[in-house]
Amino acid sequence: MTKRGKSTELIHHDYQPPTGWGAVPVPVYKASTVLFPDTAALHRPRSREAVTYRYGLQCTPGSLTLAARIATLEQAQHCVLVPSGLAAITLTSMSLLKPGDEVLLPDNVYGQNRHVTTGLLSRLGIQHRFYDPLDAAAFEAMLSDRTRLVWLEAAGSITMEFPDVLGLLRACQARGVLTAMDNTWGAGMAFNAFELAPGLGVDVSMQALTKFASGGADVLMGAVCTRNADLHRRLDEMYEFLGYGVGQNDVEAVLRGLPSLALRYRAQEATALDLARWMQQQPAVARVLHPALPGSPGHEYWKAVSPAGSSCLFSAVFKPGYSARQVDAFVDALRCFGIGYSWAGPMSLAVPYDLSRSRSLPLPWTPQEGGTLVRFAIGLEDVEDLRADLAQALTLLG
Ligand SMILES: *Cc1c(COP(=O)(O)O)cnc(C)c1O
Repeated sequence: MTKRGKSTELIHHDYQPPTGWGAVPVPVYKASTVLFPDTAALHRPRSREAVTYRYGLQCTPGSLTLAARIATLEQAQHCVLVPSGLAAITLTSMSLLKPGDEVLLPDNVYGQNRHVTTGLLSRLGIQHRFYDPLDAAAFEAMLSDRTRLVWLEAAGSITMEFPDVLGLLRACQARGVLTAMDNTWGAGMAFNAFELAPGLGVDVSMQALTKFASGGADVLMGAVCTRNADLHRRLDEMYEFLGYGVGQNDVEAVLRGLPSLALRYRAQEATALDLARWMQQQPAVARVLHPALPGSPGHEYWKAVSPAGSSCLFSAVFKPGYSARQVDAFVDALRCFGIGYSWAGPMSLAVPYDLSRSRSLPLPWTPQEGGTLVRFAIGLEDVEDLRADLAQALTLLG
């Protein structure tokens, strides 16, 4: 069969309903207890090859169906589902690192990944350092014999730098260092994380299904995908150590979100790009950070791997003359943007960030060049309503 688009793949995915039951959705399979037909079945050792249902925590037909669809979305072979994006980060690091190892993270890594690394992993004797995602040469010089895992994030959280992902991956590949990408921004739509260039891709891709896959702002879930059976075994083993089952109503909610994922991604991306360009022209704004805009940090690297995808996020850095309080007042004046975390749901969100305590390296702009930053996550509202709302709130900044 010729290669099909993402929407078709996710809607016409393999699924065998019970005989005579022609409904399109996958049922909700709820269970803690899963009954064995007899004691012989109970005593039979678990096989890695065949699926055997033994307990609701491990898997259900619903969670296996969702895992298979996320693997399809990510063009992976294997997928482990966990209760949040953060759980997917922790699972990945805990599976692939041991005491004495070192992990490298981009300085703009998702805040909770930084928190897990500096808090939990440090306590377990796993070292870490932060690298500049735009400087592959400096990164290469940081790799040592102890470096066992490198996290990548494209684009980076809040400041939206798109990393020199090909340069970073080449350096890791040359030294045989494992790579994991937080692929929440790309969501399996912007690029194929396992093949960013011929023969060059990450070993593990995790994403917060909380964001685009669900799309409803009503579910927390994460996925960890890989093409490598051995890595999958390590991830799956840690999944069982940690007792990371997923709720079946949540599985159903994400299965409901997937058929519209590609359409939502494209719609939110188009609105975000339109508004990011418009924000660039506003006198109060010093710069707009969005990988698809020329001049945004890492724009050239974005063009090299992801010209077809740019997600729904952008940040505006206000001119340094405006105080953090004035920028807060601008955010408070917005009517179509909620103030809150998470993103990729139906409602647009705006959050001002103070980056002074969340970075180890200098920001891509000086305090003379830019002041307070607001991150916008664009939802599914009508673009003209969002633009009018931004315009009325900007009048506060004169
Ligand atoms: C939201 C987010 C996560 C974590 O997802 P949760 O389900 O909220 O734990 C991880 N990485 C990125 C980039 C995110 O935006």
